[in-house]
Amino acid sequence: MTKKNINFMNMYKIDDYKFSGKKAIIRVDFNVPLHKETLEVTDDTRIKGALPTINKIIKDGGSVILMSHLGRPKEGPEEKYSLKHVIPTLKKLLGKDVKFADDCIGASAVKLSKELKKGEILLLENLRFYKEETKGDEAFAKKLASYADVYVNDAFGTAHRAHASTTIIAQFYDKKDIMFGYLIEKELEAMDKILNSTEKPVTAIMGGAKVSDKIEIIEHLLPNINNLIIGGGMTYTFIKANGGKIGNSVCEDDKLKLAKKLLKKAKELNVNVFIPVDAVNADSFDANAKTNYSKTDETPDGWMGLDIGETTLKVFTSIIEYSKIILWNGPMGVFEFEKFAHGTSEIAKSLAKATKNGAYTLVGGGDSVAAINKNKLADKVSYVSTGGGAMLEYLEGKELPGIKIIRGSK
Ligand code: AMP
Repeated sequence: MTKKNINFMNMYKIDDYKFSGKKAIIRVDFNVPLHKETLEVTDDTRIKGALPTINKIIKDGGSVILMSHLGRPKEGPEEKYSLKHVIPTLKKLLGKDVKFADDCIGASAVKLSKELKKGEILLLENLRFYKEETKGDEAFAKKLASYADVYVNDAFGTAHRAHASTTIIAQFYDKKDIMFGYLIEKELEAMDKILNSTEKPVTAIMGGAKVSDKIEIIEHLLPNINNLIIGGGMTYTFIKANGGKIGNSVCEDDKLKLAKKLLKKAKELNVNVFIPVDAVNADSFDANAKTNYSKTDETPDGWMGLDIGETTLKVFTSIIEYSKIILWNGPMGVFEFEKFAHGTSEIAKSLAKATKNGAYTLVGGGDSVAAINKNKLADKVSYVSTGGGAMLEYLEGKELPGIKIIRGSK
């Protein structure tokens, strides 16, 4: 397999750009959770994530126009989705004043952006108050583009959408005036480390409920990994495909052939596949279910495997701890129930240990991020992706419109 040479040649990097005297419009991801009644920001992680890019531009002597979506407004403006609710948090984090245009393409946005001075910051109202945003409307994108000299995309979570502010807008600028912010740069760097690593061994740990959700990623990763660790509910589709007894464990009966095909492909590519050999079973899908223990291919009738067993853990952690590059996507068991969270927690700890010993570790996908946070280990792994759907699509080998428009084709 020949490696894809990613074309960074034509791309302008934020670090090399001189923002002095320029207005930059940044697509940020301020889609943050708000308190139901007070509408205050309850988790500022995403706002904090945008600060390095904003601060760099301001420090350079530029000015910043921020645009984002918030929630899923249906028909035009809705108070509970107004971006004005993020202003107090944003001001506090920046230690600066923030101006606000209450209509992203209205007269106020035109006037405030025109009058924006060096070092000042303007936030536009929720882009999704206009259907044109998600439709990728050109006239809408052109209007947004008219406010600034430079376009910076720093919202990785929406980079897989060809929306006006994430993709279409870029075509109204010179190639030298469009670039990624630090957050997207970091996300791409992390994922490219997995996809194009020359360091070995590379291990992918894939867990979660269904094989069908992970098939495309596994297929795309296989040519560049040495070890594939399977965990979570999808274990049982593989076990059944190999003729094992799975009791009431979750299984996608229509994916048995596909599971076999994947195992065959892995073998052809010399990828070692590790499937759990033992499990903690439950007599029902319940936090307080009765438990027992069995081999995964000898699950007793009436029982379902909800976590990996101790023998499996030993094998998995030894593979993880000798790997140099590791991707973790999806929990090993039903970690939302305390009784079945052990396997997932131990894998999180093992990843932290591998990182400490010099491995590069990327954790991504909603539930594995939740698991790593639950174990308070987010700062003990190399990178935690905020990407969600965008990350999965990238790892599946899909071209993300918001990435392609800036970086060009792979
Ligand atoms: P995903 O979104 O595909 O990563 O799946 C995450 C979900 O898989 C979590 O909600 C887990 O509770 C669930 N899960 C993990 N292991 C199992 C299992 N053995 N049986 C059923 N569900 C599982």
